[in-house]
Amino acid sequence: MQRRFIPALMLFVALLMLLAGLGAKNSVPAMSVAAEKEIYLTFDDGPSTSVTEKILDVLQDQNVKATFFIVGDRVAGREKTLRRIAREGHTLGVHSQTHVYSQIYSSAEALLKDAETCAETVRTVTGVFPRVYRFPGGGDHPASAKLLRQHGYRIVGWNAVCGDEEIRGADVETLYASAVKTAKGKNCVVMLMHDSATHKQTAQALPLIIEHFRAEGYTFLAF
Ligand SMILES: [Zn+2]
Repeated sequence: MQRRFIPALMLFVALLMLLAGLGAKNSVPAMSVAAEKEIYLTFDDGPSTSVTEKILDVLQDQNVKATFFIVGDRVAGREKTLRRIAREGHTLGVHSQTHVYSQIYSSAEALLKDAETCAETVRTVTGVFPRVYRFPGGGDHPASAKLLRQHGYRIVGWNAVCGDEEIRGADVETLYASAVKTAKGKNCVVMLMHDSATHKQTAQALPLIIEHFRAEGYTFLAF
């Protein structure tokens, strides 16, 4: 009984070791890719009718989720587009009601009031309560940031740009090159892009940008 049991036990242990070895080989590279290389595509200044819809088409084709930082007073007349963003599983964030710096940045309280107006606009149209915020024009605004956090907002900056605001008249190739160059060497990329009406080139560059980061092993995430 005992002599027959020992070889069976050894076989069982050997089988377990083999399985553990296979598991380690398969899971370690996959996990390190997911944990280390992530990209958040973010679109500011919309919604617009033409450009936002084109960007949504590309994201749908590519099965990628993104984050849209909305300007509240650009929603009127584009409610369908705003609802499409929510319906297709993207994140809606606040980028101010007016995008007028002199009003927004007059005080932390003014900024919060402006943010809440935008959030209410988004909520009324889509039923979604936005919980992420991006400062118009970027920058550090400590008093406003503190107040926003107290009201439940997560503040999102960026660390890479496609250059659609920074490079005047940039063509598709330039936008693609800027996205690649500014993200180089970064494992977690937050890419700044724009979907207001003047950014047709951004929608055209988007498939190339997505294909590049996918080929580099990045996972696409929304906030
Ligand atoms: Zn903006």
